[in-house]
Amino acid sequence: DDASDENLVKLLKLIHGFDSFREGQLEAIKNVLAGKSTMLILPTGAGKSLCYQLSALILPGITLVVSPLVALMIDQLRQLPPLISGALLSSAQTFEESSETLNQLRQGTIKVLFVSPERFLNEEFLSVISGGLAVSLVVIDEAHCISEWSHNFRPSFMRLRASLLHKSLNVGSILAMTATATTTTLDAIMSALDIPRTNLIQNAHLRDNLCLSVSLIKNRMKDLLVLMKSSPFAEVKSIIVYCKFQSETDQISRYLNDNNIKAKSYHSGISAKERGYVQELFGSNKIRVVVATVAFGMGLDKRDVGAVIHYSLPGSLEEYVQEIGRAGRDGRLSYCHLFYDDEMYFKLRSLMYSEGIDEYAVNKFLSEVFPADKSSCGKICSLIKEPASRRFDMKEEVILTVLTRLELGDVQYLHLLPQTNATCVL
Ligand code: ADP
Ligand code: MG
Repeated sequence: DDASDENLVKLLKLIHGFDSFREGQLEAIKNVLAGKSTMLILPTGAGKSLCYQLSALILPGITLVVSPLVALMIDQLRQLPPLISGALLSSAQTFEESSETLNQLRQGTIKVLFVSPERFLNEEFLSVISGGLAVSLVVIDEAHCISEWSHNFRPSFMRLRASLLHKSLNVGSILAMTATATTTTLDAIMSALDIPRTNLIQNAHLRDNLCLSVSLIKNRMKDLLVLMKSSPFAEVKSIIVYCKFQSETDQISRYLNDNNIKAKSYHSGISAKERGYVQELFGSNKIRVVVATVAFGMGLDKRDVGAVIHYSLPGSLEEYVQEIGRAGRDGRLSYCHLFYDDEMYFKLRSLMYSEGIDEYAVNKFLSEVFPADKSSCGKICSLIKEPASRRFDMKEEVILTVLTRLELGDVQYLHLLPQTNATCVL
């Protein structure tokens, strides 16, 4: 009862110096304090760490934080408020260093311990935490790594099942945190950790009105025209078509006009005056379609763009997300289509081989993702901000993710954050 909302806010002020909780935080902390295992999905930068930091301070036993990367552990340890004693165990440490940490752990001077998932294979570690040491909370950061459906799957996370944590190690509660949450991944995490649906906390202010689709392009401009003349694109009032090359935008815009679709091209090879003019015409609905390079869209304040079509691959996932994010700002269901081509198919193929996935899986994947003529329309499930340098900056990976998620029906909605200036992960 000490953990009333009011007291928690006081503690927040005292420990972190913040005046109020952000969305999801208070609920997560209260869950954890009540011994309820919880799944917390908030975008990167939303403040997930604070949830275990405050909980750790209040809970009687220690809090274990499982992180997939040593760099993340170091980072999190550094960000621990000074009043909370923390340490980490990593494979990068010397034997003496880790022995020292284990000793401190036994003596109860550590409140928060950061570990890798591999640590749960270490007998000494397991015997320390199961032998008389009360573990109040196990936090699984980047919890999507648990799911083999996840792009970031780490086999060592497989050990972290509810059965091990609750039965063998007698852990009070589990807090799984991630910014990545496709439906399949989410189900896998929650079932592995035995987290009931009622204990799922998710930021509700994410966009879910973009319908994404992909298809293999064969007859270039003709395929585009067919798409634009068929439902739902035929009914959409304002459309942006993104191309890679300036020449392409001119060519396609001419082709569309020849086929009774009013379009203008936009790229940095056009004079600033003309570009402003195109933007104005589009903004006031005098032209229906803008065929553009990446140069278009930055200052665009048009809420009713109903569709964004990628005629060629975007340069990165960030670019992709920004570009499709120009659709549906009015909240209405909007459509985003991406064409991929043979060149990309081969890139994806080699990527998959280079990642060491077995041949059967690759073939199965390819037959599912690239069957003759199949185009699917799915909705995609969650947008995640990640430090730009971290991962997924390869174009192929981006598209691979989008395609697999879409085609395998894993992902259903794309929740889009408006100002994303980092690489995004699906
Ligand atoms: P996440 O793990 O969700 O990506 P972090 O836990 O690293 O995000 O938090 C991101 C930043 O937000 C940190 O600098 C943190 O201090 C800050 N923050 C967290 N909660 C609050 C809050 N209630 N008020 C103000 N800032 C906060
Ligand atoms: Mg984090």
